[in-house]
Amino acid sequence: MPKRFTPDEYAAGVLSGNRVLLSRAITLAESTLPSDQALAHAVMEQVLPHAGKSIRIGITGVPGVGKSTFIEAFGNYLLEQHGKKLAVLAIDPTSQRTGGSILGDKTRMETLSANPGAYIRPSPAGKTLGGVARSTRESILLCEAAGFDVIFVETVGVGQSETAVHEMVDFFLLLMLAGAGDELQGIKKGIMEMADAIAITKADGANLHAATSAQAEYQGALHLFPLGASKWSPKVTVCSAYEKTGLAPIWDAVTEYVTLTQQNGYFLQRRQEQNLHWLRHSIRQQLEERFYQHPAVKVQWETVSGQVTQGQKSPFAAAAELFDLLS
Ligand code: GDP
Repeated sequence: MPKRFTPDEYAAGVLSGNRVLLSRAITLAESTLPSDQALAHAVMEQVLPHAGKSIRIGITGVPGVGKSTFIEAFGNYLLEQHGKKLAVLAIDPTSQRTGGSILGDKTRMETLSANPGAYIRPSPAGKTLGGVARSTRESILLCEAAGFDVIFVETVGVGQSETAVHEMVDFFLLLMLAGAGDELQGIKKGIMEMADAIAITKADGANLHAATSAQAEYQGALHLFPLGASKWSPKVTVCSAYEKTGLAPIWDAVTEYVTLTQQNGYFLQRRQEQNLHWLRHSIRQQLEERFYQHPAVKVQWETVSGQVTQGQKSPFAAAAELFDLLS
């Protein structure tokens, strides 16, 4: 078992910005060992009053859209031009993507990871979306307590991880490619509806023209969505990570969004709603875990699930029967 510290040691290390302790605290938050969970809760309790002060940005897009190249360029821009401290976290449940974690490849984001103002944390391997989502939430708080004032949460633009990320960030940035056939294909409408900004990537060289026409097209499409509770109208921009162009307008959109929603109260309201969402989410998860770990359920599971598989018992009746075992 890896070395463990006391809650005070973890908390003091995180709050002083010690990266080794921050990484250890995140590892602890990712652990599923029951003894680690109690320790992790004690650490979180101590750091929580110091968390919450960052801007949390979700970044999504299909594989190949240029996410890691963009994050490196945009991240360096924020560090160099705005003096930000940036943490990059990833949600990449291996159940959805074979071949390891999204940030596992060491060649990704080389200059960013070498920058002392940046902290890059790969997605934990071998976990379900629920597990990754929970530990990413806690990692955000730990990074905030360690003094990072911008947090990127990266996810691949497939499956359900966008919804989970959307529930843990303030601003949701969707990266899209121009000229990949029908402009609105390949990405679900639901994901576009979540976006606070869409950035058309690779707007350089021969791609530039296609990117600007895609920009107009997406901006038109987004106008069809009704204005949400934030009162923010999503922006569409073009950028090139290669040429480092179009990065300032994206940051402008983020800061305008934050100013608007802090003024109209939506920023805080949404964070409160997100906290409630994760409370409910944790309760569901813990109920389920406790249910399956209950000794009586374990004994009966094979028989009852077999009866359901064979059509001898309805799933509803079987669930009720198993629940009765708990009382
Ligand atoms: P990810 O899978 O979304 O993380 O995408 P990557 O960042 O790995 O990029 C996918 C491919 O697009 C790579 O071959 C990059 O070199 C290329 N690419 C990324 N950004 C740009 C850009 O700004 N302009 C151009 N022309 N190509 C880019």
